[in-house]
Amino acid sequence: MNPNEAELHYPLGDTVPAPGATLDVAPGVRWLRMRLPFALDHINLWLLRDRQDGVEGWTIIDCGITDDTTRAAWEQVFAERLDGLPVLRVIVTHMHPDHIGLSHWLTEKWKCRLWISATDFSAARVASHSTTGFGGERSAAFFASHGLTDPDALAKVRARSNYYAGMVPRVPDSYRRLMDGMTLDIGGHAWRCIAGYGHAPEHIALHAPNLHGAPSAPSAPAPGATQGPLRDPGGAPELGAARRSGLLISGDMLLPRISTNVSVYDLEPESDPLALFLTSLKRFDSLAADTLVLPSHGKPFTGLHARTRQLHEHHAERLAEVMAACAAQPCHAAEMLPVLFKRKLDLHQTTFAMGESIAHLHALWHAGKLLRRAGDDGVWRFSAA
Ligand SMILES: [Zn+2]
Repeated sequence: MNPNEAELHYPLGDTVPAPGATLDVAPGVRWLRMRLPFALDHINLWLLRDRQDGVEGWTIIDCGITDDTTRAAWEQVFAERLDGLPVLRVIVTHMHPDHIGLSHWLTEKWKCRLWISATDFSAARVASHSTTGFGGERSAAFFASHGLTDPDALAKVRARSNYYAGMVPRVPDSYRRLMDGMTLDIGGHAWRCIAGYGHAPEHIALHAPNLHGAPSAPSAPAPGATQGPLRDPGGAPELGAARRSGLLISGDMLLPRISTNVSVYDLEPESDPLALFLTSLKRFDSLAADTLVLPSHGKPFTGLHARTRQLHEHHAERLAEVMAACAAQPCHAAEMLPVLFKRKLDLHQTTFAMGESIAHLHALWHAGKLLRRAGDDGVWRFSAA
């Protein structure tokens, strides 16, 4: 959890939409939440009022996983929250199951296109047909080569061979490609694509500089009154409204409470995702300080520059701890778990933490600060260069 969360501001307070309901966060922008069967128990999805080829409707941002609960919540949204209009397209920020899971069902149901980066489209199609990257034999062997010896943990990784395909059984056959710097016209508003790396292959965040969030609490409508369309106050700095400077649908690249997962996977065993992630964060530096950030997990917040600084500091501290440990004696990734994660990890968390641990070692290795050598036991150990 973010120890400096108090530096961020939540303009909507603690109000969150119930499953199947929506909350208007800006003119034509509706927030919905779907349940997830994990410790991270929800995902935020967004509905943007749109018009395509003269047809009025909605653009969906992200989908939820494939299960009956999520489908039922979507059916309720379709019946009650689309003002009788159709879905015109489905935009997916990245290939992780909670984001792309139901894209096949949504695009078939509404006969519309999936929009996503080419890299994540391809990665999702591969992952939905294999066990690559998220579990199975190769993942277990990869973690073992980084020092994970606990037989229960390795058995858990092997057993997770259907992890991705279970939540993403299919990906649409065709798509429309999103690329960094592209500007999409969504309902007459310009949304610019900002690519980000290190969390997913090619994550796309969306920035609307000319769309503004709801007035800041306490002038925000009471929870019971938030279901109706929100009137745009027209930019007047009245009613205690915060200065409003654009919206950012940040996906998983910027989350207010948890640090984004940055992991090395067996598919790309020498990768340096932490450097990619930290470099990608710089792309948000040019956005207005009071941009309303709409994250995939947690609540809409302002303070994106504080948040990116917190993330840089968080990882700099973790890297310093890893460096100090490896300078004392050669270490493998499993030995870094108690250094990086102060809390006790259960078996499930351990397997995910391994990817993060390797990511920190690789950042220092690629930067030339650590050397890596495989021991006679086949385990990679890292020592000061
Ligand atoms: Zn993700």
